[in-house]
Amino acid sequence: MAKVFNWQLNRETEYVYEAGRPDKQFAGIFDLNKCIACQTCTMACKTTWTSGRGQETMFWNNVETKPRGGYPQTWDVKLMEKLGQQSWEGQEYTGETVFEKGRRDMPVEGYLPEDLDYAHPNIGEDEINKSLETKGLYLNAMPTPFWMFYMPRICNHCTYPACLAACPRKAIYKRKEDGIVLIDQERCRGYRYCIEACPWKKVFFNSVTRISEKCIACYPLIESGKIPRCFEECIGKIRIGGFISKPDAPRVDNPIDYLIFERKLALPLYPQAGTEPNIYYIPPINIPTDFLRMMFGPGADAAVNTYRGTMERARETELEMLDDDDLKLIGLIALSNSTNNTVHSFKLIRPTLEIVGYDESGGELIRVPIKEPQYIREFFDQRNQVYRYNIT
Ligand code: SF4
Ligand code: SF4
Repeated sequence: MAKVFNWQLNRETEYVYEAGRPDKQFAGIFDLNKCIACQTCTMACKTTWTSGRGQETMFWNNVETKPRGGYPQTWDVKLMEKLGQQSWEGQEYTGETVFEKGRRDMPVEGYLPEDLDYAHPNIGEDEINKSLETKGLYLNAMPTPFWMFYMPRICNHCTYPACLAACPRKAIYKRKEDGIVLIDQERCRGYRYCIEACPWKKVFFNSVTRISEKCIACYPLIESGKIPRCFEECIGKIRIGGFISKPDAPRVDNPIDYLIFERKLALPLYPQAGTEPNIYYIPPINIPTDFLRMMFGPGADAAVNTYRGTMERARETELEMLDDDDLKLIGLIALSNSTNNTVHSFKLIRPTLEIVGYDESGGELIRVPIKEPQYIREFFDQRNQVYRYNIT
């Protein structure tokens, strides 16, 4: 095993190959406060890439309800079991990663899901954390002890991919130009070590071709400066797509770097697995933080406080009075997937209070107002000669 630096764990870890961070790394940020589980992302991906025979239960993008849902079923519970005791000292992870728990015959700790685990992709959807039978509690207790939230997931295009580490055929590779992790379909023999190894269970077995398949981050779109389909189609506008800089050289004008490195608002999912996943999550602010700490590491409390603080100040103060940090945060959340182009840099514009997104060569791509405009329509619609009723 080689020694590599994992910035999410704030220490060196073991990996099967020498470190080789790509020149650019595809990354995404999902704001879990905004996901409505409409599954538009799921269907955008399904109809684009996995509508063939053998792909019936294959969801490169899925959306599950936490804490009960999971696809494949209980993937995260099993990951926690496999990792065993997980401890942090400050920002440093002192437990073992899936690589550090690896064995001589299998360099990555993992498990192979059963066929039945894929049979019900939406199991647990909209289920809350505990039974409502507790008499009267749901009416009397505020804040409510009952909660759930939606969790969209795709392949993380990890910096240290477990799938790649486990493949004896070297059929899985990570592209230098954008860090996207792909399976060479010619080399793959369907041994499924990658499926066993991936902590996120984001490699799937095609039952007809009998080889493995996974999310390709819509690389033809990425190559032409666009964002993936599941990002573009997101109804809730929860997704920011782009490139993350190397951890020792973040750029504060890059939306991804700004929210991850500068504001520490977007966090990796189960960083303790040790793969350095590149899809980041803005944690939901109304969920018990001990649960969030388990999922997103020790930065969860600070991220929730940052988000909540900004939104409270925005509610209580005129936007013009907010400082640049607050305005950038609100603006970037509004910017999200407002354009299907990859935003490489952004700027806050005062006094018009806009956020502008730019392409790689500095050309303007998108301009969004930080304050959402409101339009109130006339009560009587002249054109159609009807009254409009407010149904809310
Ligand atoms: S999420 Fe899984 S499939 Fe994707 S790169 Fe990481 S280990 Fe591989
Ligand atoms: S399209 Fe967006 S809002 Fe809808 S389920 Fe997917 S991530 Fe959530």
